[in-house]
Amino acid sequence: MARHLITSAIPYINGIKHLGNLVGSQLPADLYARYLRARGHEVLFLCATDEHGTPAELAAAKAGKPVAEYCAEMWEVQAKLADGFRLSFDHFGRSSSTQNHKLTQHFAGVLADQGLIREVSETQMYSKADGRYLPDRYIEGTCPNCGFDSARGDQCDNCTKQLDPVDLINPHSTISGSTDLEMRETKHLYLRQSEMKDQLEEWIDTREGWPVLTTSIAKKWLNDGDGLQDRGITRDLDWGVPVQRGDEPWPGMEGKVFYVWFDAPIEYIACSQEWVEAGKGDDWARWWRTDKGADDVRYTQFMGKDNVPFHTLSFPVTILGSGEPWKLVDYIKSFNYLNYDGGQFSTSRGRGVFMDQALEILPADYWRWWLLSHAPESSDSEFTWENFQISVNKDLADVLGNFASRVTKFCRSKFSEAVPEAGTYGPDEDRLIAALTDKLREYEQHMEAIEVRKSAAALRAAWVLGNEYLQEVAPWTTFKTDPDKAAAQIRLALNLIRLYAVVSAPFIPDASKQLLDAMQTDDRNWPDDVPSALAALPAGHAFAVPEVTFRKITDDERAEWQERFAGVRE
Ligand SMILES: [Zn+2]
Repeated sequence: MARHLITSAIPYINGIKHLGNLVGSQLPADLYARYLRARGHEVLFLCATDEHGTPAELAAAKAGKPVAEYCAEMWEVQAKLADGFRLSFDHFGRSSSTQNHKLTQHFAGVLADQGLIREVSETQMYSKADGRYLPDRYIEGTCPNCGFDSARGDQCDNCTKQLDPVDLINPHSTISGSTDLEMRETKHLYLRQSEMKDQLEEWIDTREGWPVLTTSIAKKWLNDGDGLQDRGITRDLDWGVPVQRGDEPWPGMEGKVFYVWFDAPIEYIACSQEWVEAGKGDDWARWWRTDKGADDVRYTQFMGKDNVPFHTLSFPVTILGSGEPWKLVDYIKSFNYLNYDGGQFSTSRGRGVFMDQALEILPADYWRWWLLSHAPESSDSEFTWENFQISVNKDLADVLGNFASRVTKFCRSKFSEAVPEAGTYGPDEDRLIAALTDKLREYEQHMEAIEVRKSAAALRAAWVLGNEYLQEVAPWTTFKTDPDKAAAQIRLALNLIRLYAVVSAPFIPDASKQLLDAMQTDDRNWPDDVPSALAALPAGHAFAVPEVTFRKITDDERAEWQERFAGVRE
């Protein structure tokens, strides 16, 4: 038994996430957490919402709500959806928690003590009417390149030219509409990442077996161009963690907050403190402090490829640079993008399926299975309705669901609603047991290596073995000439249903529970030894025929959904 700390990249607060976001971090992290728990390991699985920064302020303003209230509401929405998808977080925290405020201020203080923070004077647009500095997205004006009249301070959405606020013609504040703007000098803190370059490179080089996707992105940022750059960690905003040097004020930094990229990953640690405060655990330090027992913890992070630079460089600078004994990540599992039906998911155009919509049309397991078995690991992958329909109807309905239904219904009609006693196993059963043992060991290896698609393929192959066995031995035919032999075949098949429920639980937890309930057992012991696992339900053990485990998707539904989610609203 080992100890596993698992974190999923934390979703931003400003809206409901689409299925591409889900499969890029939270869902595979949940698969891994569930698998490790099923194998008897001690697991702490954490996720949270990322709540600070300009986009949260803008979204709150659009919703006509104070930003704190908006974030609290959206946290509820995201927590409920996570629950709907059966994401088994030990805690779902918030980066706006007091724990994260304190810890972020602590890290800034110790990094300053270590000489890793410098102050920089910059000029920034100030709005007298609003009484504040304006981030780039709060300034709009006419694009000097194409004449578009709503170009933002950082970019023109019409011609895509990158802009500085001073480039805009007739710039105005998007908060008040005021044109009374001026450039003013303001001071910011920079994290001296460049100082840590060699130490980072040495650390990355000693990480064993990291995916190429992860290390290649990290190396690119370390070495391309002028190498790793220092980065601003403060903003002139109201909403965020107030800049302090530990518990002390930071002279000259009054009214400023830490930049969201600095405080968001620190929430991984703060989340474990929230977990303790919520009464779900009693010691966060044994997961995070190597001087307090975290030495034997294996820490795995899950994220989309766009988050890799922050997790391989910026957050490790915070951890390593502090000089304190914090736990560093052991393995980073990163994902490419999931595309949607020949294009990209688009929040603004309502293109693709979002988490709330998905659960409105089908239960979580249908999505979990498709998304995980098509996870964008080695390259981007694509959701199409045709593929989704085929995968659900074939893998889930025909192979797994139909097996459970056929076996239990046959037993009920020819024997009773209890495991039959007669007959003994022969060469057919030995062959199945040997093949199944090989396939399960392969499944475990892929799961331990976090090879998500290969794990799904091995699991599907294990389901297929049961179907092939049933086709070959055909108990409905055997029964006519040798009912005892048919009884033995069905006894094995009923036990296979329990075995499938146990090993499939990380992928499809609800179906797993439904099948275990039908088999009237709580025995979730992992089939380390297949022959004894196939004797777990003894002769005479009562069961019930399950309701339909997975239904098929019709062609009409597929066509309807394809049209509904094609994206029209602007
Ligand atoms: Zn333009």
